[in-house]
Amino acid sequence: MEQPHPMIDENPSISGLAEVKARLRRACRAAGRSEKSVKLICVSKGFGYEAIRPVLDSGERVFGENRVQEAAEKWPALRNSFPSIELHLIGPLQSNKAEAAVALFDVIQTLDRPKIAMAVSAAMRKTGRRPKCYIQVNTGEEPQKSGVLPPDLAEFLRICRKEAGLEIAGLMCIPPADQLASPHFALLKQQANEFKLAELSMGMSADFELAVQLSATLVRVGSAIFGDRSQHLSPMKI
Ligand SMILES: *Cc1c(COP(=O)(O)O)cnc(C)c1O
Repeated sequence: MEQPHPMIDENPSISGLAEVKARLRRACRAAGRSEKSVKLICVSKGFGYEAIRPVLDSGERVFGENRVQEAAEKWPALRNSFPSIELHLIGPLQSNKAEAAVALFDVIQTLDRPKIAMAVSAAMRKTGRRPKCYIQVNTGEEPQKSGVLPPDLAEFLRICRKEAGLEIAGLMCIPPADQLASPHFALLKQQANEFKLAELSMGMSADFELAVQLSATLVRVGSAIFGDRSQHLSPMKI
C-alpha cells in the first residue's frame, strides 16, 4: 500500500508568517517591549485567496491593502467567513473613493489633505461607519510621495479635528527608499509625542525591527510574509 506523503508542502505564506512573527518577538524582546504593544499588519496587496487564506487560518486578523478597488474585490467574501478581520487602508486615498473606503476599511492610515479629510468625514456621516483615522506624514518631503509635510502637520491636524470632526489615532510614514529609515521613524515619533497621538504605523519587511526599537505600535509587513509581489502582477480574484 502506498504511504501517505510524509511532508505536505507548507504554504509559503505560512513559513513567511512564522519567520516574521519570530523576528517581531525578538525585536520586542530586544527593545524591552511587550509583544502585545506592537500590532502586525499583514500587507496582502497583490495576493489572492490562496495566499491569504492560510494566514487567516493560522489566526491573523489584521490586514493591509493599498488600493480600495482591489480590497473591495477581495475582502467582503473573506469577511463573511472571518467577521473579526481588521482591514487597514495603507495606500493613498482619492476623494471619489472615500465612501467605498469608509464602507470597507476599519482603519484609514493615509489622510493627508483637507479635501480627503472632509470627504472621509462626509462618508462617515452618510454610512454611519467610523473607521479609525491616521495621518500619513511625508517625513522625507519627497515630491512624488503622499503625506502631509512635517511643518504642515499641526494645521492639518487642526482641520481634521475641528473642521472635519475626525478623531486622529496616530501617524504613519513611509521613509524614502534610498535613505536610512531611523531618522524618519524618530521624526514621526517626535511628532506623535508633540501632538499626543498614541499610534505609530512604521516599519515594513526590511526594517520593522528598527521601527519596533523606535516605538512603532503597528508594523506593515508584506513581502516577508507573502513573498515577492512582482510574481503576482495581477491579483487573483477570489
Ligand atoms: C506594500 C506596503 C507595505 C509592505 O511592504 P513590504 O516591503 O512588502 O513589507 C507597507 N506599507 C505600505 C504603505 C505599502 O504600500
